[in-house]
Amino acid sequence: MLDVLVIGAGPCGLAAAIECGRQGLDCEIIDKHNVVHSIYLYPTHMQFFSTAEMLEIGDIPFAISNDKPYRHEALAYYRRVAKHFDLKISPYEEALTIAKQPDGSFIVRTRRRNGEENVRQARHVVIATGYFDHPNYIGIPGEDLEKVTHYFREAHPYAGMKTVIIGGSNSAVDAAMELIRVGAEVTMVYRGEAVSENIKPWVRPLFDSMVQKGHINLYLQSRVIEITEDSVRIQSDQGEELRLDNDFVLALTGFRPDRKLLSSSGVQLDEGMEKPLYDPETMETNVPGLYVAGVIASGRNANEVFIETGRYHGRLIAQHLNATAQS
Ligand code: FAD
Repeated sequence: MLDVLVIGAGPCGLAAAIECGRQGLDCEIIDKHNVVHSIYLYPTHMQFFSTAEMLEIGDIPFAISNDKPYRHEALAYYRRVAKHFDLKISPYEEALTIAKQPDGSFIVRTRRRNGEENVRQARHVVIATGYFDHPNYIGIPGEDLEKVTHYFREAHPYAGMKTVIIGGSNSAVDAAMELIRVGAEVTMVYRGEAVSENIKPWVRPLFDSMVQKGHINLYLQSRVIEITEDSVRIQSDQGEELRLDNDFVLALTGFRPDRKLLSSSGVQLDEGMEKPLYDPETMETNVPGLYVAGVIASGRNANEVFIETGRYHGRLIAQHLNATAQS
């Protein structure tokens, strides 16, 4: 029987598998897509806010000529790390359920790309399924229209188009900067008093200048309350309403982990059924032998864990498994 099955080959799942391997444990990873699929889904030309060093796993240097890597460099880095450690990864295999057995091991039911179901058994399971599959839906009329997306990839399709961006984080600001470069008409709508304080410091002055020059129409303390095929309706916190002609909406409102797999496997959730119950020193949940790593360990604010911090979860897990084996 396998010692450890890691579910999710994101940076934190890979780090967990590397650390378990270092403890001599027989470990495999499954991912419903391919390695670091979340990073693959990032905007094509995105530059990380973290330095390369802060994204390293398995003590493998992430050497690049810039300070902060681009998406394509991170994809290459994590692929190389997985190869370097010869990690046993089964891509395109999704975990469906996790069931604890009377002998303390786990049966994980999975589905492969061809639709075939599979059963895996492991003494321990690490859930590292991230959050990128589940955007924060706003819940407004028209959000399901084809012209609305929660994932921004490239600016080209929006060239010359009337585009509304909902959000005020790095994703929203980066998208706005790319859109004006292709000649889109850009309106940003954000509920806060100002865009996030965490905007990348090298982007911030350029963004502010674009707003001042009127190249980006910024509506703060405002919300989009309705989207139709050719317009959006915006309401300010003071109750003023405005309807704008519109071709596309980028709803860049962040992501939240899917807790279905967790709760179905008996892990308790608190903070309004969001945060899994686990020991932060070992990452073990209330189900003995079942661990969480990466963003899935976060609460309502999914940004409380990111690669910089979640990459260390695997070490805690491996140390705990080692200590338990020796006790
Ligand atoms: P993920 O990377 O989301 O990986 C989870 C994996 O699990 C995926 O491959 C997915 O396919 C797989 N999976 C999901 N469900 C199942 C299932 N049921 N069965 C099998 N596999 C499954 N963080 C930083 O530290 N620095 C940055 O500069 C930074 N920039 C960012 C920029 C953007 C645009 C975004 C969106 C995020 C950024 N982050 C950054 C955050 C970072 O991407 C996440 O914190 C990180 O991806 C979390 O890693 P993870 O391994 O927990 O999960």
